[in-house]
Amino acid sequence: MIILVLNSGSSSVKYQLLEMQDKTLLASGLVERIGQSGSAYKHERLPGTDTSQVFSNEQDIPDHSTALDLVVKLITGEQTGVIKDVSSINGIGHRIVHGGEDFNTPILVDDDVVEGIRAQIPLAPLHNPGGLAGIETAKRLMPGIPNVAVFDTAFHQTMPPEAYRMAIPAELYSELKIRRYGFHGTSHLYVAKQCAATLGQTLEQTSCITVHLGNGCSMAAVKQGRCVDTSMGLTPLAGLVMGTRSGDVDPALHAFLTDKKGYSIQDIDNLLNKKSGLLGLCGDNDMRDIHARIDKGDSDAELALKIFCRRVTQYIGQYMAILDKTQAICFTAGVGENDERVRELSCATLSGLGVVLDKKRNQEVRRGEICEISSPESRVKVLVIPTNEELEIATQTAQVLSSS
Ligand code: AMP
Repeated sequence: MIILVLNSGSSSVKYQLLEMQDKTLLASGLVERIGQSGSAYKHERLPGTDTSQVFSNEQDIPDHSTALDLVVKLITGEQTGVIKDVSSINGIGHRIVHGGEDFNTPILVDDDVVEGIRAQIPLAPLHNPGGLAGIETAKRLMPGIPNVAVFDTAFHQTMPPEAYRMAIPAELYSELKIRRYGFHGTSHLYVAKQCAATLGQTLEQTSCITVHLGNGCSMAAVKQGRCVDTSMGLTPLAGLVMGTRSGDVDPALHAFLTDKKGYSIQDIDNLLNKKSGLLGLCGDNDMRDIHARIDKGDSDAELALKIFCRRVTQYIGQYMAILDKTQAICFTAGVGENDERVRELSCATLSGLGVVLDKKRNQEVRRGEICEISSPESRVKVLVIPTNEELEIATQTAQVLSSS
């Protein structure tokens, strides 16, 4: 079975073509700056193999339709392609950021599903329109090939109300569905499954904390395979400190800033989403640049790292407190997989909770592999697990197609 995975953002389309029998990646790529100057694509044929080839070009890509047309040409082209024509594709899996309360599993797309995704746009105005554009264009360019929507929020829909409701007037929930939703669900689920396999047990037997530290950062408490809490909220701004996002702040900050600085709500939204986090604290948002500055003795960069890691520690403590028994803590994504210092600092004060890192193992993590980094006496295993959201989307798409 061949699955095309599409992750359509507001101005970009990321894609992967996978053969599901042996989970081989046939092609992957990115079309970016759609509708802007400098639009371009990068396409890789047979990534990770000896015959891998990369093709890229800067060209006019005015809209999603043109972008997807280009993707089809790249995956079927004589030089760039890996399949003869799109009829070889069995299904298309779309990453959709927000499924609200209506979607708690991946679903075959029909007109009602399209309307359901559209109805969530107020909750994800920057993300769901791109996903919808991807679905609509795929239906037009590849008629007859089934589309499956896979939601970032779906894995978190098992949270109990005491985790997802906010302590604000109840009618705001019934009227506007204001609640915690959580995001990165596909990554948290994939990592929890990999954790289960590493522990030699089923997902239903697995209770773990998944720590996704990338450009965006979030954590999930997984009890017997089901999400029972997560750090992002109504939007992906809540929770951990991120590259440019503040994560949790005192909600009274808004009124204070309006009063003292005359900021509008839009100004504050922009400030907390785009100018805060590591960037706001020290002027850099890439952890590699922050380490380079720390190595030169920069105290702002050091404080930013400490605040970032302290928040991770605090959430680990919170989640251990609500899980009966935490079997493992799993670090994943760009920072989580690659940054030994962040992992070490985040776990440094957790020995009282039975979490003890092995310094050497932590330093010897092999890129792209699942590694155990806790010491033998640690009651809780600490793992580094490379995430693969596209593979999880493809797997879920294949499951929906097989069962429908
Ligand atoms: P992701 O969103 O998972 O692609 O993660 C992207 C982020 O990972 C980047 O913004 C970097 O801050 C971080 N990152 C990538 N490689 C490294 C590394 N070797 N060490 C520390 N951070 C890294």
